[in-house]
Amino acid sequence: MAVVIEQISKRFGELCVVDRASLDVADGELVVLLGSSGSGKSTILRMIAGLTVPDEGRILLNGRDITRLPPQQRGMGFVFQNYSIFPHMTVAENIEFGLKIRNVPVSQRLARREYLLGLVDLHGMGPRYSSQLSGGQQQRVALARSLAYEPPVLLLDEPFGAIDAKTRIQLRQSLKKIVKEIGVTTMMVTHDQEEAFELADRVAIVNKGRIEQYGFPNDVYYSPSTQFTADFVGDINFFEGSVLNSSGECCEIELFEGIPVYRRGRYPFQQGQRVLYGVRPEQIRVSLLEPENYENGINGTIEKSMFLGDITRYSIRLADSHLLDVQVLNYLFIDGMVMPYELNEKVWLIWSQGSGIILADGAHPAFVSNI
Ligand code: ADP
Ligand code: MG
Repeated sequence: MAVVIEQISKRFGELCVVDRASLDVADGELVVLLGSSGSGKSTILRMIAGLTVPDEGRILLNGRDITRLPPQQRGMGFVFQNYSIFPHMTVAENIEFGLKIRNVPVSQRLARREYLLGLVDLHGMGPRYSSQLSGGQQQRVALARSLAYEPPVLLLDEPFGAIDAKTRIQLRQSLKKIVKEIGVTTMMVTHDQEEAFELADRVAIVNKGRIEQYGFPNDVYYSPSTQFTADFVGDINFFEGSVLNSSGECCEIELFEGIPVYRRGRYPFQQGQRVLYGVRPEQIRVSLLEPENYENGINGTIEKSMFLGDITRYSIRLADSHLLDVQVLNYLFIDGMVMPYELNEKVWLIWSQGSGIILADGAHPAFVSNI
């Protein structure tokens, strides 16, 4: 493992900002820390960089304990949200800065600079100053500068946070290409789920200073281990229920008014145990008639409809006044018409027994194996 964080904690006064966080990052891996503002992401990154010293725990770089090593001896590349290039230096001087202070010979320095300018798509921009660059270009310079001296690890703290949405998407695609091309181990912080999922090999969900879940984006999305994670990545409808039967290869849960739902898989529940059952809006299909065959089905009345361009979101009133959110893709029929469901229309909602999430009440991991 390139980076291992073992149970690190950080307090500021009374406030525990990072609480026994552990992570491991493989060589060349791109790990994203995803969490809302104030959850402790930057503090974790700063401890890895050596800018903040943890109160407890250890940080290892390629097996070596660096917990108390000053930042300059770690030599990690760092890119911050706010354009952090030196305004009194040209692009070329910014990129060469780290090489100069390390006394890299001139010919090597220039070659490296030209390579990096090409890598971040800024060929010919060497003589410019930051005032002559867009925000996106400045962050490209910051990236090139942080990579100049071939750091063992690249750390990025919301690097695209201050940049408009379209440019941000281009930048993150470039970032992914660049870090994979040079194979640098990378850790990035963001509060943007789409950004995290697009970039991450593995994603760590940070909540109140704890690593709530760490895994592949796909697993975090489909098998969240807590209610927080399920809610934080995407949308989900949660209902309370009790277990009717979980002795076999499928778990049967009774929701409100005795409505049963089924989830394939082996679960360690007792009969009668209280659980949370969740299903994501895009996993549900809407039908005007009761389908002949379905694995999970429930009926309701369209209460709200929100057209969002590519999709329409419906809120559907179920029995016992529960609401279910459903998301429908607005594909066009042959005559070019989108067929929306009308308000107050009665509909059937169906979904597979392979979708859905069950969490033990108290939201501890409940999932044992999928089938
Ligand atoms: P994030 O990057 O997820 O937004 P931070 O790690 O920056 O979160 O901050 C987490 C919490 O720690 C916040 O409540 C913040 O106010 C607090 N905090 C961060 N740095 C300091 C500091 N140097 N002194 C006191 N409180 C701090
Ligand atoms: Mg931050």
